[in-house]
Amino acid sequence: MTDTWNTRTKLVHAGTRRSQYGEVSEALFLTQGFVYPDAEAAEARFVECGEDEYIYARYANPTVAMFEDRIAAIEGAEAAFATASGMAAVNGALFSQLQAGDHVVSAKALFGSCLFILENLLPKYGVEVTFVDGTDLDAWRAAMRPNTKLAFVEAISNPTLEVIDIKAVAGIAHEAGALLVVDNVFATPVFQRTLELGADVVVYSATKHIDGQGRCLGGVVLGRDEFINGDFLNYMKHTGGALSPFNAWVMLKGLETLDLRCRAQADTALALAKAVENHPALARTIYPSLESHPQHDLAEKQMSAGGTVLSLDLKGGKEAAFRFLNALTIPEISNNLGDAKSIVTHPATTTHQRLSPEQRSDLGITDGLVRFSVGLEDVSDLLADVTQALDKV
Ligand SMILES: *Cc1c(COP(=O)(O)O)cnc(C)c1O
Repeated sequence: MTDTWNTRTKLVHAGTRRSQYGEVSEALFLTQGFVYPDAEAAEARFVECGEDEYIYARYANPTVAMFEDRIAAIEGAEAAFATASGMAAVNGALFSQLQAGDHVVSAKALFGSCLFILENLLPKYGVEVTFVDGTDLDAWRAAMRPNTKLAFVEAISNPTLEVIDIKAVAGIAHEAGALLVVDNVFATPVFQRTLELGADVVVYSATKHIDGQGRCLGGVVLGRDEFINGDFLNYMKHTGGALSPFNAWVMLKGLETLDLRCRAQADTALALAKAVENHPALARTIYPSLESHPQHDLAEKQMSAGGTVLSLDLKGGKEAAFRFLNALTIPEISNNLGDAKSIVTHPATTTHQRLSPEQRSDLGITDGLVRFSVGLEDVSDLLADVTQALDKV
């Protein structure tokens, strides 16, 4: 029955496990361990842990399992494993599959900590990484080698919002015998069917839209049963990146409203992008659903909306960007995204400060660029606020 439900129904009901009390809201099993009725039962469970049997919360927990099953149902994944943060998810998906002598091809426009893993950590353990322009399919093809095990991309890059052709990159990776791992945070589980497009593994920072209200860190890795419950599960079980039951409970409740929130936020993002696009203070307004976006056609084909984030490139560089940020009265200056509160970030001096000026300019992260994560506020209030702040610049 669950399989035939549409996303909103799954988001509210999928994966629910009720205790003997018949609670309406999902139970929070805030427990590390589980007791066995007798010694024989303990032995049997260590030999084979059955469906809905538990040993230790580093491996699995009923509240965490509800979150995993619910997000797997909407993503269309055979299995999921929830992690302590988005970075625990990325780390596990990569390190569990690789060993010295392997090769990885990655898009170069990445979230800072993803870049750190690929640029600094993997090479330290003898894994070679080639970075390519994620939108250049010839570059992907040219980078593949006989020992390429993995390709890694963010479906929409942060903060310049380049859209990656998942189907094409998956085809290139598969031809080379490599798995495609997609960090799908910016595309969200709502707007893109990433596994259906050909990705083998999808990872999320649940800290973003899935919580959506700025409370907890979390993450999740989704894919085929053989991937999730193979080397990856062993890696996660024994390295301790499990999601806490409390955070899983928050995320589970977050999923109930995920579709409604993401759609409302994307509608506002598109309205704002269209309204400010020709403002004289702006060199560029970046949003995947705008006709002016370089991968507009791909975005239309691949996604059902342009996402909840837009980027504004101010003509006057850092000074103009700071004046704009400081003149805004509704959005908060912070660095999360996908939150109910609108959040603005100046990547060049915060999230991407660690990069050299050359790296930033190569990635299109100008000193005037502001990332705008659109919240759930009233669209006319936000538009009035953004307009008055741009006028002050
Ligand atoms: C935030 C984010 C991460 C990391 O997630 P955490 O929950 O902060 O560990 C990874 N990738 C992308 C694209 C992100 O936005």
